[in-house]
Amino acid sequence: MERTLILCKPDCMEKNLAGEVLRRFEAAGLRLVAAKSMRLTPALLAEHYAHLADKPFFPEIVTFMSSQPVLALILRGDGAVGRVRDLLGPTDSRKAPKGSIRGDLGTDNMRNIAHASDSVENAELEMKRFFKADEIPA
Ligand code: ADP
Repeated sequence: MERTLILCKPDCMEKNLAGEVLRRFEAAGLRLVAAKSMRLTPALLAEHYAHLADKPFFPEIVTFMSSQPVLALILRGDGAVGRVRDLLGPTDSRKAPKGSIRGDLGTDNMRNIAHASDSVENAELEMKRFFKADEIPA
């Protein structure tokens, strides 16, 4: 059983699609184990997106991701990390297939509805980044 960290991004919240995104995950058999709304600070985003710090679009990501509160979720299920990434689709919403969350609901490379952990190792780190220990069920 794996757990994974999702962030419903500002474009998702702006489009009123958080419920639809969660519905798709739940319909696929994933279980919601924690959720909270939070405004991400530039410092937290610099840590979360450290692998993109040297990209020209990095400042734009920080501005976008801190523009309004996001909905952070932890989902649990067999193979949850890979299954959630499959349901989400590739980074660029314009290239994501129809039927995927980003393909159906996203706009472009940056406004792509949700973040999802890309490995079991990162999922564990990211859960601790966005949730306190007592907010995560055992
Ligand atoms: P993913 O979110 O699919 O794991 P990355 O870790 O590569 O993708 O990128 C993190 C986030 O940075 C993306 O979800 C997206 O919001 C933004 N991003 C990535 N590439 C670009 C780009 N070329 N232009 C603008 N924003 C981007």
